Amino acid sequence: MNIYGKLGVPSVINAATTLTAIGGTLMPDEVRRAMDEAARSFVDMHELHAAAGKHLAKLTRNEAAYVTSGCAAGLVLGILGARNGGDPAMITEYPGHPEAPYEVIMHTSHRIPYDPAVGLAGAIIRQIGNNKQTFDWELESAISDNTAAVLYVANDTLPGSALALERVVAIAHKHQVPVIVDAAAQLPPMDNLWRFTRDLGADAAVFSGGKNLRGPQASGLMVGSSAFIEAARQNGSPHQRWARALKAGKEEIAGLVAAVERFLTLDHDGTNRDSLRVVEAWHAAFTDRQGISAVIEPTNSAGQPLPRLRIAIDDPERAANVLTSLENSTPRVVVLPHTHNGQARGFWITPELLSGDEAELVHAAVDAALRSA
Ligand SMILES: *Cc1c(COP(=O)(O)O)cnc(C)c1O
Repeated sequence: MNIYGKLGVPSVINAATTLTAIGGTLMPDEVRRAMDEAARSFVDMHELHAAAGKHLAKLTRNEAAYVTSGCAAGLVLGILGARNGGDPAMITEYPGHPEAPYEVIMHTSHRIPYDPAVGLAGAIIRQIGNNKQTFDWELESAISDNTAAVLYVANDTLPGSALALERVVAIAHKHQVPVIVDAAAQLPPMDNLWRFTRDLGADAAVFSGGKNLRGPQASGLMVGSSAFIEAARQNGSPHQRWARALKAGKEEIAGLVAAVERFLTLDHDGTNRDSLRVVEAWHAAFTDRQGISAVIEPTNSAGQPLPRLRIAIDDPERAANVLTSLENSTPRVVVLPHTHNGQARGFWITPELLSGDEAELVHAAVDAALRSA
């Protein structure tokens, strides 16, 4: 019996996406081996961070890199570093001092459930624009002596009203304000590892290690300029400072290094073709049913080029029943529900994280759920 069985918590099949709430991702052999090796001896953590950062920088064609305990943790560390420049005397001061408030600028259309990371760094979010439009002058006029950074969320499925990243970088840099890109789920495509930073000029981009990189769930990868990353690093563990709570251990560092090495060797186009075949088979199976339509979509909820199938159910009550039935399936198949104005409309399924015969198990569970409701 495995650890989940011993604890009485059934494992689930992930036909949704890299959702942290169901464990995010699964680590391939190379990653688990690296973590296991790392767990067997002590190492100087300052030296390990520096060496892993140097190696990851080279692999990702960036000036510098740093392993964090997640993307959200990387945002906190990046914002703290932007605020205090890694200066030890400034780091010891409480970052969110009420008499010295400081701000992080975000597009309104970039407000996401992960942006409390800004508050955890002691900063206040200053919004620019709205969901329909944003103007250059709004960014210009939002920048003040209190501005620590601009936080830019890279995700093509957000309302497309933000300024282009190049524009944001040009304006922010004119005022010596750094730009941090939240790129948590923006891999693949692989070239995003250097596109936001080396190509488009952002000071840092932060990726989740525990999403499609398939690294440890509690890991993150920050890449960018040497100065920005050094300042962020000064705030984190193993230093005994404010952000010590956001610790990446030696196992996470080793696992993430192995995950990035592996990711760079993958044939993403080939994997995508295989995934598309699975999605097409599901489509063929579910499309000709009364009150149901199935649509193949080329990208997932983070805008990544990973195909999925949307199953739309005309009757909201039936849609809700189908979702309940899937929740009660054995093994439980987790899908991404589609709701609109508070009503169930259907769901998405994706082969993104399935292995072995799970695509067939998903097929069977969805088939049974659609028939039962
Ligand atoms: C998942 C996600 C995060 C959080 O990433 P963690 O690695 O779990 O900390 C932040 N921002 C976005 C856009 C995400 O999708």
